Amino acid sequence: MTAVLQFDQIRLPGECEALREEVRAFLAEEIAAGTFDPYRPGHGDSHNPAFSRRVGAKGWIGMTWPKQYGGRARSFLERYVVTEEFRVANAPVRLHFVADRQSGPVLLKYAPEHIKQDILPRICRGELCFVIGMSEPNSGSDLFAATTKATKVDGGFRINGTKIWTSNAHIADYMLGLFRTSPSTKENRRHGLTQFLVDMKTPGIAVNPVYQMSGQHDFNEVVFDDAFVPDDHVLGEIDGAWKQATSELAYERSGPERFLETFYVMLELIRALGPEPDLRGAEGLGRLVAQLHTLRRMSVSVAGMLHAGKEPVVEGSLVKDVGTIWEQKLPNRVRELTAFLAPEAGNRETLEEQLAFATMIAPKLTIQGGTTEILRGIIARGLGLR
Ligand SMILES: Cc1cc2nc3c(=O)[nH]c(=O)nc-3n(C[C@H](O)[C@H](O)[C@H](O)COP(=O)(O)OP(=O)(O)OC[C@H]3O[C@@H](n4cnc5c(N)ncnc54)[C@H](O)[C@@H]3O)c2cc1C
Repeated sequence: MTAVLQFDQIRLPGECEALREEVRAFLAEEIAAGTFDPYRPGHGDSHNPAFSRRVGAKGWIGMTWPKQYGGRARSFLERYVVTEEFRVANAPVRLHFVADRQSGPVLLKYAPEHIKQDILPRICRGELCFVIGMSEPNSGSDLFAATTKATKVDGGFRINGTKIWTSNAHIADYMLGLFRTSPSTKENRRHGLTQFLVDMKTPGIAVNPVYQMSGQHDFNEVVFDDAFVPDDHVLGEIDGAWKQATSELAYERSGPERFLETFYVMLELIRALGPEPDLRGAEGLGRLVAQLHTLRRMSVSVAGMLHAGKEPVVEGSLVKDVGTIWEQKLPNRVRELTAFLAPEAGNRETLEEQLAFATMIAPKLTIQGGTTEILRGIIARGLGLR
């Protein structure tokens, strides 16, 4: 049974460490210049066009893509280092992150040549924000129940329906949307969906905000009312998008952002415990570090396997399942470990502020990008258990 679970033994190669130093120096300069505050996650706007352009100029967006499209032909492991350092620093990557992680790779694989030449270099320069148009009011986990319709007309398609939970739609340039072009069939209920590149400025698209309990405006409802999408914006096979949507999710699920979203509270824990923690603090912190180290080894392994052209769907799902639960529980664990510290501990105020924020965002961590139950279904299927 274990033969189907394969985490290759991968370590980050030497060139990654030189890159890590370069990224850290860049981020330190940005922090010193006041671009963002690593100790106040969620307080600044993580959408920062000028910052994204500077990241693009460093060659760190689309860095694994071919040079002819503005990429740098670097490895997935090098990209891993950049993602990890940016996440740990709480850098404002909202504008470019989705395009870099998953929309660009889909375009690279399925878009017509003239679209690749037009759009990919602009993503690499940090100029374009992409969003994922998958979930609908009655189709979240069950993606293949999507009903938003793309109807064939002269020269293209007319889109009608509603997407929901669309992160960043209010600032986006483009969506990669999954729309129904035919009914599903008896033999294959996944049949009938097609993926489209949608220009968010198209007439007939309305973006309505959905606010989270933390007060943040991250996601939206997107309503399509006869919005026109031209023929050359179809991505891949008509009616057969389920294959490409599934492989897109493998990229979405296994990166370091899947266990580092509340990492700032661990840094605050270390600051609060100080250089000589008591036995309870040291033991608690030791456990957290060991768990994090294991998660990271698993996640690096998936990055290495993606680089080698493998499709580690089960392993990626496992990283997201274990990783998101870990980051979700972290604020509570840090609260327990700091409960008996002297009230005058130097960073008490930042610690409390960060714990409050991390606690409020924690519920979403095991929902976004596929819920725990859905991931476990994928893992069980991969292990031949269902
Ligand atoms: C912060 C955030 C950002 C998001 N951003 C985007 C985005 O940019 N684009 C986008 O398209 N979507 C986005 N989503 C949506 C997200 O992908 C969905 O919320 C998620 O897939 C779950 O779908 P749902 O909300 O419809 O819940 P449902 O599918 O209705 O699930 C409700 C509950 O039932 C469980 N459940 C459902 N089916 C099964 C099953 N077969 N077996 C066992 N349990 C099951 C689920 O695990 C869950 O606990 C985002 C969500 C969040 C929280």
